Amino acid sequence: MKPIVAVIGRPNVGKSTFFNRVTKSKNALVDNFPGVTRDRNFGDAVWDDVEFTLVDTGGFSDDDEDVFAGHIRSQIHQAIEDADAVIMILDGKGGISPYDSDLISILRLVKKPVLYAVNKIDGEGHEKYMYDFYSLGIENPYPVSAEHGYGIRDFLDDLIKVL
Ligand code: GDP
Ligand code: MG
Repeated sequence: MKPIVAVIGRPNVGKSTFFNRVTKSKNALVDNFPGVTRDRNFGDAVWDDVEFTLVDTGGFSDDDEDVFAGHIRSQIHQAIEDADAVIMILDGKGGISPYDSDLISILRLVKKPVLYAVNKIDGEGHEKYMYDFYSLGIENPYPVSAEHGYGIRDFLDDLIKVL
């Protein structure tokens, strides 16, 4: 069985864009409006000869209070439980929300590899947006741009090391 890697994070951070880039598909619906990914979406990925299954998660509604409602919480838990490793995507443009901190505290308890990718860092000029994310106390947040590809190679190099 190939390792399963779950992509989680609040709506609109770029999970589906990331999923599409890494699986080289257009399977996941990317939309400016959060909540388009209804169910979990599985895709095959390979990096440096290491094969894995990437899982895009969604099913969120579009305000932060609903996002943490019971069924969403359990869906996230299920995705984490079924995964061998977890990628949490954060929004380098939108900044940090309380939901991010909540999710990070859940992930601290997870005894699996967890990688944090700060998305929408569309080039070197955007690296300054990274500073806020160091205050979250997460280990080694990776700057990436799911849309443009910035940082993706370094991120995937490190991801496959933990699979
Ligand atoms: P999801 O709700 O987390 O699955 O987010 P989506 O993948 O649907 O993306 C939400 C919005 O963010 C869309 O308008 C994307 O085009 C945009 N987006 C995703 N990745 C990037 C990125 O790397 N840079 C920028 N500037 N926008 C992005
Ligand atoms: Mg999505």
